[in-house]
Amino acid sequence: NQNCVVIGASHAGVNFAFALRREGWEGTITMIDIDPTLPYHRPPLSKAYLTSADSIEKNLLKSEESYVKENINLKLGVWVDAIDRENKKVVLADGTSLGYDKLVIATGARPIMPPIPGLDTANNLFPLRSAADVSNIRNTVTANEGLKVVVIGGGYIGLETAASLKKLGADVTVLERESRILARVTAPEMSEFFQKLHADNGVAVLTEKNVVSIENNGESNTVICSDETRYEADMVIVGVGIHVNKELAEKAGLTIENGILVNEKSQTSDENIYAIGDCTFHHNPHYNRHIRLESVQNAVDQAKIAAAAVIGKDCAYDALPWFWSDQYDVKLQMVGLSQGYDEVLVRKEADKENCFSVWYFKGDTLLAVDAVNNAKAYVYGTKFIKGGEKLDKSKLSDPMAEFKPANLIAQ
Ligand code: FAD
Repeated sequence: NQNCVVIGASHAGVNFAFALRREGWEGTITMIDIDPTLPYHRPPLSKAYLTSADSIEKNLLKSEESYVKENINLKLGVWVDAIDRENKKVVLADGTSLGYDKLVIATGARPIMPPIPGLDTANNLFPLRSAADVSNIRNTVTANEGLKVVVIGGGYIGLETAASLKKLGADVTVLERESRILARVTAPEMSEFFQKLHADNGVAVLTEKNVVSIENNGESNTVICSDETRYEADMVIVGVGIHVNKELAEKAGLTIENGILVNEKSQTSDENIYAIGDCTFHHNPHYNRHIRLESVQNAVDQAKIAAAAVIGKDCAYDALPWFWSDQYDVKLQMVGLSQGYDEVLVRKEADKENCFSVWYFKGDTLLAVDAVNNAKAYVYGTKFIKGGEKLDKSKLSDPMAEFKPANLIAQ
C-alpha cells in the first residue's frame, strides 16, 4: 500500500488529491495543512465573500463528506516542520512523522509584511490571505460604520479589498508606491480605468505614496508616507505581494529558483517529490520561459498534471495562464502574459460603456488580452494566443468593425 502525502490543502493540494483518486490511485492520500478550516476558495475572500455574511462553509472547495467518500485523510491545524528525503518522511511540528512514497508540496505563499517601522504594532492590522483574516476584517468593519481603512498596495488584492470594504460602508484609501496602480501586470490604459473606477465609487486611490512608518495612537493609527503626507487609519490592510512558502523544500535540498523548480510533470529535483501551485517555478511552453504564477488556473492545472505523473502517465504542462478580478460591477478577465509587449491596442465596443479590451502584442504576436466586461474579447484572445493567427490590427482597434474572429484575422 503506497502512501501519498500532500503538504498544503488549498487549491493545488485539494485538486491534486481528488485528481489522483480519479486517476485510479489505490494507496492512501493524506493532506496536511496548518489552516484549521476545511479547505476553501481564496478568490472570493477579497470579493463576494468579504461583503457577504456567509460562513466559510458556503465557500468550501469540497464538502466534508467528499473527503470521506474519496478516502482522503485531512490533517488540519498541523504544521509540517521538515521533509526527511533520506527516510522518505515528513516531520510534523509535534515531533511525529509520516512516511511517504510520493510527496507533493503545495505550500503556496504568504503575504509579505514589509519592514515598515510601526507596522507590526499597528491597531487592526491585517493581511488578506486566509478565511480567518477575512472574518476579522468583516467583523471589525461591520461593527464600526464609516471605519477609516488604509490599504497599502494597489495590486489586485488591495483594489478588490478596497471595493468590497467600500460596499460594507468603510471610508477607504489605497496607498500605492508606484506611479500607477497595477503597474506590474497591466498597461497604463488599464491602470487609468481602474483609478477612475475607484474614484467614481468614492475610494481614494493615491499613487507615489511610499509608506515609511505607522504610528499607533491608541484606538487608531497614522500612516505616514515619504512625502510627509499622513493618513488616519482605524484599520490597516497590507496587500503588497507574497512570499513563496519554499523553505521546507529549500531545507530539504530541492532546487529553488524563483520558487520550487519543477519540470513539465511538476516534479522537483527529487523524482518522488512534486510541487504544484503558487510555490512553483515552472516552464510555460506558450512563452518559452520559466515563470511563477499566483492563480487558481495554475494551481488546478498543475494539480492535474502532477496526479497523472504520479500514476505514471505520460503528460506535460501546457496551460495558457488566465486570471480574473471583480471590482464593483466590473469583471476583468485576463489571458496570457503581457510582459515584454511592444504595442498595446485598445478595442472599445461601440455603444457599450465600460466594455473594452486591451490587446498586448510583441510585433505581430499576440501575447495577452485584458477584457473589461467583455467575455467575447477574453474568448477570442484565448483562441488567437493559442492559434497564433496574425491579426488585422486596424480592424481590431476599430469599434465599428464587427467583433468576430473571421473579421479580425489578417487576410
Ligand atoms: P495556497 O492557496 O497559498 O495554499 C497553500 C496552503 O499550504 C495553505 O493553506 C497553507 O496553510 C499551507 N501550508 C504552507 N506551508 C505549510 C506547512 N509547512 N505545513 C502545513 N501547511 C502549510 N487567483 C485567481 O486566479 N483569481 C483571483 O481572482 C484570485 N483572487 C485572490 C484573492 C485573494 C484574497 C487571495 C489571497 C488570492 C487570490 N488568488 C486569485 C490567488 C489564488 O488564491 C492562489 O493562486 C491559490 O490559492 C494558490 O493555491 P495554492 O494551493 O498553490 O496555495
